[in-house]
Amino acid sequence: MEYGRVLERAAGAARQVSGTGRVAAYIPALAGADPAAFGIALATATDPASVHGADDWRTPFSIQSISKVFTLALVLATDGDTLWQRVGKEPSGSPFNSLAQLEREGGVPRNPFVNAGALVVTDRLQTLTGDASGALREFLRAESGNPAIDFDARVAVSEHRHGHRNAALAHLLADHGKLANPVRTVLRHYVKQCAITMTCRDLALAACLLARHGIRADGTRLLTRSEAKRINAVMLVGGTYDAAGDVAHRVGLPAKSGVSGGILAVVPGRCGLCVWGPALDTHGNSVAGIAALDAFTTLTGWSVF
Ligand code: GLU
Repeated sequence: MEYGRVLERAAGAARQVSGTGRVAAYIPALAGADPAAFGIALATATDPASVHGADDWRTPFSIQSISKVFTLALVLATDGDTLWQRVGKEPSGSPFNSLAQLEREGGVPRNPFVNAGALVVTDRLQTLTGDASGALREFLRAESGNPAIDFDARVAVSEHRHGHRNAALAHLLADHGKLANPVRTVLRHYVKQCAITMTCRDLALAACLLARHGIRADGTRLLTRSEAKRINAVMLVGGTYDAAGDVAHRVGLPAKSGVSGGILAVVPGRCGLCVWGPALDTHGNSVAGIAALDAFTTLTGWSVF
């Protein structure tokens, strides 16, 4: 496969939708992103991984909800199937920050990628490590081979100041007896994990954890093959907000979006992918990112179907 040529063509598909969509503004520090920026990277799942990219693939951005894939991996590695008693694995069909759904369903979040589910996972990671966001940062540094990966304090402060809905979700979870740690501790680590800054290159390499069926960059096993499959499955049904059906239809890969416009995708057994374009569609997925992934799977024939 001539990766460079395929990625150039996928980037071309992204350029065609340039000007469509809007940058997320509810976290003010994200609002200034260039809507026309675009990057794509692919890391092969073989040992050693090789990385390829096009356009802004080395530009750092705030990973936001993409972090939820890796907190889930770290907790699942220790807790195994017992985690699924605290959080579901169904598509949400509702906005990612819905209070109504959480209340209606007795404080058990639909899946680990809606905000309530991610708060439960972060709570558990905090109990397991004593420093959830720090443990995540170390893990991402190791998987991407980039020791410079860090939190963006400006983004974290901005989200703290405006994160009323996440605070409400955390209090609702606590009211249902679903958090082991204080609400403010869980929120602090959740906001910090979302404020980690990485590039498409870094994230494509980190995605290889799932492309290698649970094997880490250093060759050790973090997840069983079946646990890696479960994360991929939940990404497919719940990783792209309430548009997961449409994304499965167009792209056909497990994928996780973030509000900053990044999308992590996995071709099991083959490669990790990351695309980034800050302008979002009405569901919250990167317009350019989805166009590029759509073109990528069409060109390569690589999908899970
Ligand atoms: N930190 C963001 C929030 O909690 C993440 C949302 C996302 O990327 O989906 O609202």
